[in-house]
Amino acid sequence: MRRVLARYFAVEGDPTAARTAQRLWEHARALIDAAPASLDMTAYTQGQMDLGATVCTRTRPDCARCPLAPDCRARIDGRQDELPTPRARRAQPLRHCWMLIAECDGRVLLERRPDTGIWGGLWTLPQFEDEAALEAVRAGLAADGQPLALASIEHVFTHFRLRIQPLWLRMPGGAPAPADENRAWVGIGNLAAHGMPAPVARLLDGLYDGALLLR
Ligand code: SF4
Repeated sequence: MRRVLARYFAVEGDPTAARTAQRLWEHARALIDAAPASLDMTAYTQGQMDLGATVCTRTRPDCARCPLAPDCRARIDGRQDELPTPRARRAQPLRHCWMLIAECDGRVLLERRPDTGIWGGLWTLPQFEDEAALEAVRAGLAADGQPLALASIEHVFTHFRLRIQPLWLRMPGGAPAPADENRAWVGIGNLAAHGMPAPVARLLDGLYDGALLLR
């Protein structure tokens, strides 16, 4: 019923929002007040519901068959697709992280994610929630140089967006062996053999000129 009223009277706004619902209710009330006293409310209500279910449908209103067509504001203005106004999507929260691209002797340090959780079991770049944590790992690599900040990238998950700040650290040589089996120095030419999340693969592919052949 809300859909039919919103179209017939061209009422803007999310019909589930209190203000819009109030306006729709006022229109509905005015129609009933103007109807003859003999109005069969049950048949009237059922008729509106049938119209919404079979003629004034959400995606393809059949205006040619609709008895309300001559006075329907949405039909007259050609706005059937715009009304009722779709519910506003809630903005997804934005999270931040840092990723370290540690490069040494033509190899890049990768780490494998735990089997459960986001990107479970895939190989990614070491990821940090803050710059201080990244700095601690950089110190562990005995790397003297300062990492170079690359352009940040954004990846959209179902419930949030992740903005990734990549830092590229080129080490002169002599990288320490990985601390465990879930970390590995991988040759740039061998990156494609490691399953990676799409944004990480894109990042490395762009940096190493198609090393993963994603372009
Ligand atoms: S004319 Fe079209 S848009 Fe208007 S109430 Fe009828 S079916 Fe819906």
